Parts: sequence; C-alpha cells; structure tokens
Amino acid sequence: MLQQTRVAAVLRFYARFLAAFPDVRALAAAPVDRVLEQWSGLGYYRRAHHLHAAAGVIVTQYGGRFPREARTIAMLPGIGRSTAAAIAAFAFGERAAILDGNVKRVLARHRGIDGFPGTPKVEARLWAIAESLLPERGIETYTQALMDLGATVCTRALPRCAECPVATDCVARREGRVAALPAPRPAKARPARAIRMLVLERAGTILLEKRPAAGIWAGLWSLPEVDVDTDVARHCMARFHASVNVGETLPPIAHGFTHFNLTIHPQRVAVRRWPLRAEAPGLLWLTRDDALGAALPAPIRKLLAAL
Ligand code: SF4
Repeated sequence: MLQQTRVAAVLRFYARFLAAFPDVRALAAAPVDRVLEQWSGLGYYRRAHHLHAAAGVIVTQYGGRFPREARTIAMLPGIGRSTAAAIAAFAFGERAAILDGNVKRVLARHRGIDGFPGTPKVEARLWAIAESLLPERGIETYTQALMDLGATVCTRALPRCAECPVATDCVARREGRVAALPAPRPAKARPARAIRMLVLERAGTILLEKRPAAGIWAGLWSLPEVDVDTDVARHCMARFHASVNVGETLPPIAHGFTHFNLTIHPQRVAVRRWPLRAEAPGLLWLTRDDALGAALPAPIRKLLAAL
C-alpha cells in the first residue's frame, strides 16, 4: 500500500483491509473483486492484483509461510529487488541492500554519480555501491537510517546538508553539485488520449461495465467507453439494441497515467427502450449510491458522485 503513497493516506485503508483479510490465507481465498473493493480509493490497482496474486503464491508454494530470503521474496508478484531486500532485512535480519528512490538520491549525491538513476548502467552502479556499504552487523538499524536519511535530510528539493551525518565525505556537497544530482529523467512528452464515457441512465439506475482483467483499471467497474467521435445513439443500438436520447456532455475529466494523459468526456444518455433479455456478463445496472460502493477507478467515482 505504501508504494508511491504516503503513510497518512494509507492508514485508514490498512486497518480496513486487515479487518477484511486478517491473514494471508484469507486474502488468497478471497475473490479478486472483493480485494479490489477493499482497495477502492487507494489507486494504483495493480498493487491490489499483485498482493492478491502474491498471497496465492505464498499459500500454494510456501504452505502459507512468508519466504525469508530476499532472493525468493523478490520473485513474488509485485515485489521488486529493493522491497524484497527491505522485507528480508527488517523481518529476518538478512544482510541485503535496498535501493529505492530515496536511497538512489542519497548515493548518487554522496558518491557524485552522474546520469539518470533509472538507466540500467547508472542503476547497476548504484546497486554495487549499496551492496559495498552494507555493515557486518545491525542491518535493520542501517537500513532504517538510510531510508530516513533520504526521507528527512537528503531530500529532493531542500537537502539539509549542514545537519547531515555523512556530509564530511559527500562528493556532491564538496563539488557544489547537490542541486544537480541525481540527474533528472530525460524529458519525454506523455502522449494524450481522449475517450467518451457513457453515463447510460434508466429508471434511476446507471449502467456499469466491468473492465478487462488486463490493462488500465483492470477488473474494476467503469462506464462503457467509445471513441470521442462515435455516434452514440447508433453505437447503443448496435451494441445493446437500445434506443436512447443523447443528453448533455458533462465537463471533461483529465487523468494522468504513467505512460499517457487521458481526457474523459462524459456523456449523459437516457435510455428510452432497453431490450428485454438477461444482461450480458460484465454489465450491471446500479443506483448511483450502490455504484459508489463498487470498485471504481478514482475519476469515475468522482464523476458519479457529482451527478
Ligand atoms: S551532505 Fe547533503 S547532499 Fe550529501 S548526502 Fe548529506 S544531505 Fe545529501
């Protein structure tokens, strides 16, 4: 939960999550929909998918006992080398090196390493440094101190070099390159995409559609989407055999993903006639209040809440 999310934002979700899934077996046995529901509001839903998958692996391959070695932990879904090392160091005292974003910054400055730390070459260098610095004893204290140094002293924008315990041999400080290190990610514009989302309304209910198991917002409930220039009435007839009145276009919603920026154009659509037949799987008519209780992507939740 804490990956790319602050502790304060996580706390109430964490307690709720543990109440729903008190141990790894309960989590592994739960349908992924229930896990996504409990995750709803935390964002980055891949983490929930990974957590659920990792619980399954721990139960089936390790008899429900969390593996103890960093190398094995790193093979669990969603756990990278640095997270695995942190778990192994704190939980089992293994002498394993971490290298998260904060630690990369501390090491890049302290050793004066040029280049963007995300490139394989620079990253390999930083890993080698991180491993060479591991103490013989006290790995927990060392690892916590390194993380705290990055989070509270050697911060990105305002490093407090005067109070830094490793300032005496810091290359960046000596050479006046603190602000320049680590080198920023080379600029690359994120592509923009736009879609139209249909708010189909019928007798006080809204049509939700389950998203595919892979891709963005995997497995969450969302609204049916079409290309921006689609003829909505024709589309509803062709796809649902439904007659509709196309209503107002609501204000666009911008949402940033890691690899692209998405603009959602919500379109209200009143259903005049819906064919009398069982609903297709993955489609669900819910009142707005019930819909808000489902596992929805954050922008869709915001959109429905404002209706
Ligand atoms: S002296 Fe400054 S730049 Fe160097 S490690 Fe300490 S806080 Fe970071």
